[in-house]
Amino acid sequence: VSSKGCQKIKGSQIRDLLNAKRFVLFDCDGVIWNGETAVPGAPEVVSLLKQQGKGVFFVTNNCTRPRETYVQKFSRLGFADVAQEEIFSSAYCSAVYLRDVAKVQGKVFVIGGNGVYKELRDAGVPFVEEETDVSGESIYDCPLDSEVKAVLVGYDEKFNFLKLAKACCYLRNADCLFLATDPDPWHPLRGGRVTPGSGSLTAALETATERKATVIGKPSRFMFECIANQFGVDPALALMIGDRLETDILFGANCGLDTMLTLTGVSQMDEAEGYKDSDALEKKNFVPDYVVDSIADFLEAQEE
Ligand code: PLP
Ligand code: CA
Repeated sequence: VSSKGCQKIKGSQIRDLLNAKRFVLFDCDGVIWNGETAVPGAPEVVSLLKQQGKGVFFVTNNCTRPRETYVQKFSRLGFADVAQEEIFSSAYCSAVYLRDVAKVQGKVFVIGGNGVYKELRDAGVPFVEEETDVSGESIYDCPLDSEVKAVLVGYDEKFNFLKLAKACCYLRNADCLFLATDPDPWHPLRGGRVTPGSGSLTAALETATERKATVIGKPSRFMFECIANQFGVDPALALMIGDRLETDILFGANCGLDTMLTLTGVSQMDEAEGYKDSDALEKKNFVPDYVVDSIADFLEAQEE
């Protein structure tokens, strides 16, 4: 007997589902765009939902850009009128967490890039400035800042052994917070290439410190709490749409939202069915309620 989930829907079924929702949360990469290319029809879908008066939000684990740069990306890719307030990135939400939840009294040591630094600066959270030349430093005598009270790990293309070693030293202090922007293992690039995700860097530091990071991004609930706090979103009236079962669909399940997998990204139908057929109870939260080939199917659903 197959349980609920993985329902492939189109046409009037999509229309009925959307009519029952007031808020739509979109994952970004693999759902509305792939890298620098918009998913065909996605800009029209976002405009349509907004015209219908729905609250539309974007939840991305990509911490490499500050929100203002996302606004530019949206407009460059043909998404009209996406406001900064509608964008919830793991970098932005990490800064919010440090400022409003952890209320950290001291500096943050960052493994990450511009997106993280800019969001911390905008939130007024003090951090250790990124060293540009560390060629003279060694693990034996590199300077450590006694004011560091948190380590934040995100995607960092300049990740190196010295950063790992410094973070390790800071985290020897049990009072030093250990945060990760997101747990993503890897991401697809063009031409079949992949890039290691933030999760792989966090894993290195978790092994070295024998500690577990607090994850801010999906599938943790915190990004939804940020949205709900700012916009008063009722989970029962919200739909989470994503392309990755282990992050987006689990996130939706963790937050009590209906979930939809779109097949324009990482996860495919067979994986979703595999989780559905699994006996392990914890795998059930990876099973999307609904599946569509692409969010472009929303357009036809409205025309019928
Ligand atoms: N982090 C990085 C560095 C990425 O390149 C990507 C996707 O391209 C992501 C995270 C995942 O982003 P999203 O949550 O929008 O799928
Ligand atoms: Ca994605």
